[in-house]
Amino acid sequence: MKILLLGAAGQVGWQLRRSLSVLGDVVALDRHSSPLCGDLTRPDDLARTVREVAPQAIVNAAAYTAVDKAESETELAFAVNGHACEVLAREAAALDAWLVHYSTDYVFNGRGETPWVEDDVVDPVNAYGRSKLAGEEAIRAQGARHMIFRTCWVFDAWGGNFCKTILRAAGQRESLDVVSDQFGAPTRAALIADVTAHALRAPQSGTYHLAASGITHWHEYASFAVQEALAAGVPLKVKPENIRAVPSTQFKTAAVRPANSRLDTRKLRDTFGLALPHWQDGVRAVVKELAAHGALAPKT
Ligand code: NDP
Repeated sequence: MKILLLGAAGQVGWQLRRSLSVLGDVVALDRHSSPLCGDLTRPDDLARTVREVAPQAIVNAAAYTAVDKAESETELAFAVNGHACEVLAREAAALDAWLVHYSTDYVFNGRGETPWVEDDVVDPVNAYGRSKLAGEEAIRAQGARHMIFRTCWVFDAWGGNFCKTILRAAGQRESLDVVSDQFGAPTRAALIADVTAHALRAPQSGTYHLAASGITHWHEYASFAVQEALAAGVPLKVKPENIRAVPSTQFKTAAVRPANSRLDTRKLRDTFGLALPHWQDGVRAVVKELAAHGALAPKT
């Protein structure tokens, strides 16, 4: 299978380079690639690239993911997360290729405590969520064979994420305030990539929720990551008892964050015959990896 991978330098894209390699020939592009174009703000060059590569599957891990900045850079967010998806879906349809795309629980309004199922009513509460919804809708409208994986709270050793930010802060500060009223499942990029590779072996068109199992909030997640880092021998300034749980109202952010990011993953598990590991397994593994590579050592 020939696969065109976009966004190869992001958290998920980086892991996809590894996991897709067993499926065949992967043409991996990021926004700086040349002469092939991986820049989602250049629709004509992007379309030309798809035609030139002529893949059997396009996997789009590129996205505008700056949730707060999207409130002021809304046009750019929609160009990357919305319009580029339309281009990719149109080209995929013309080639009869599969389009794999990633979306977010931010298409929902975050109310309630029930895990979201795929058919729940969408109602994004911020510009990033609206731009991701626009991408989903553009893909469905083009009629290409597609799989859209909605995920949440992505992290891994490669790339920027909450887990790494907290561990860095824990190495520098004696106390931390972390939100405890937003719920979700920290989901390792490697898990998303592995599920993608598995699904591509017997693809079935549709939208699927993809997240690690179990539910937590940011405070519990941060405390767990710190405890794992201490257990791995990483010298941190903060003690677990000095990580305080605070309400999200304590932090003013440009974009409203949904409180309920719980995703019901039954459809994905049933369709592809998969089990999804617990979020703690992923966090433990990533913290160990970071510790083993000295990535959590205090800066001298
Ligand atoms: P990252 O931000 O780690 O990666 C996104 C990549 O897209 C980056 O390498 C970024 O490049 C690139 N990119 C940005 N703009 C463009 C552009 N114009 N052209 C080409 N590439 C561009 O995100 P993740 O890997 O975490 O996210 C993967 C998918 O999962 C996305 O669709 C995201 O919306 C979705 N998702 C992510 C969540 C999360 O917590 N991260 C939660 C829910 C869903 P650069 O670094 O140079 O900006």
